[in-house]
Amino acid sequence: MQQTMIDRFGRHITYLRVSVTDRCDFRCIYCMSEAMTFLPRQDLLSLEELDRLASAFVARGVRKLRLTGGEPLVRRNILWLLKALSRHLGDGLDELTLTTNGSQLVRYAEALADCGIARINVSLDTLDPDRFRAITRRGDLGGVMSGIEAAHRAGLKIKINTVALRDVNEGEFEKLIGWSHGNGFDLTLIETMPMGEIDADRTEQYLPLSLVRARLEQRFTLDDIPYRSGGPARYVQVRETGGRLGFITPMTHNFCEACNRVRVTCTGTLYMCLGQEDAADLRAPLRASEDNTLLHAAIDEAIARKPKGHDFVIGRGERPATARPMSLTGG
Ligand code: SAM
Ligand code: SF4
Repeated sequence: MQQTMIDRFGRHITYLRVSVTDRCDFRCIYCMSEAMTFLPRQDLLSLEELDRLASAFVARGVRKLRLTGGEPLVRRNILWLLKALSRHLGDGLDELTLTTNGSQLVRYAEALADCGIARINVSLDTLDPDRFRAITRRGDLGGVMSGIEAAHRAGLKIKINTVALRDVNEGEFEKLIGWSHGNGFDLTLIETMPMGEIDADRTEQYLPLSLVRARLEQRFTLDDIPYRSGGPARYVQVRETGGRLGFITPMTHNFCEACNRVRVTCTGTLYMCLGQEDAADLRAPLRASEDNTLLHAAIDEAIARKPKGHDFVIGRGERPATARPMSLTGG
C-alpha cells in the first residue's frame, strides 16, 4: 500500500485532473489564440502511459479523476483509456468524470455511461448560436445541444460550466439559470483566469462574480448551501428554480487553503497549482523503469513543493500568471 499524498500545509491530495490532449476543435476567445499551435504528437504520452500514470495516483489516494484537455473527446481512442481507468471505480476511486465542450457528445454519450461515468461537466457560455460561434470561433451550438440531450438520455448527470465574460454573455445568466435548472442541470459560473496569451484583452473580458451575484440577487433568492462537488465551486440553491448554482471565484475569493487537486498534462508534466509555473516531469521517471519506484519518488518530491496558492491578477499591463493556456493544464 502506497503512502497517501499530504502537502506541507496539511492538504490531502485526492483529486487528479488529467489533460489527455492540448488539442481542441474550438478556439474559445478567453482560452487560446486563433493561431494556437499544438504540441507535436510524438511528445504525448501514449494512452497506456496515461493509464499507468493516473493509476499510480489512485494508488496514492486519489479518489476523483477528471479527464480534460484541450478537448478530451478529440483524443483518438479515448474510450480505451476511460474503460481502463474505470477498473478502479469502487476500488479506491469514487468518481471518474470529464470536462468537455460537448462537440463530440452525440457520438460518445452512451459509451461514456457504459464506462461507469455518472456525471460530466459541459462548458457552455451562451445559448445564442451566433454568440456561441463568436466565443468559440468555430463551434456549432446545435451540435453541442444535441450532445447535451444525448448525454441526458444516456443517464449522465450534467453540470454546465459558464465563463463569465463582460459585455459578451453577461446579459445571459438568468436565461442560462432558467435553461439549466429547467433541464435538471447544475450550473457553475467561472471567473476568467489570466493563463496564456490570447488575442483579446483580459481586462476587458474579466467580470467579477461578486458583481454577478449581486445582480442575480435582485432577481433570485440565493441560499448558501454546504453542497460540494469535490472542486473549488461554492454553491447556492436558487429558491425560484430549486436548482444549484456554483461560483468559481479564483479572482475575487480564492479557495487555495482547501485545495485537494493536482494536474498532469498529456506530456506527463505535473502541475501542483493551476496558477503557478512550477512543475515536475513525470514522463522521465515513468519511462525509466517498469516499476513505479522512481515515479512515486518524483510524485513525493513534487507534492512537497505544492505552493500555498496562486497569484492571479488581471489588470492593464499585467502579464498572464502562467505562460501556458488553460488548455494545456486542463480546467
Ligand atoms: N475543452 C473542454 C471544455 O471546454 O470543457 C475541457 C478543457 S477547458 C480548458 C476546461 C474549462 O476551462 C472550460 O470550462 C473552459 O471554459 C475553462 N477555461 C478555459 N480557459 C479559461 C480561463 N482563462 N479562465 C477561466 N476558465 C477557463
Ligand atoms: Fe477548447 Fe475548452 Fe479551451 Fe474552448 S475552453 S478552446 S473548448 S479547451
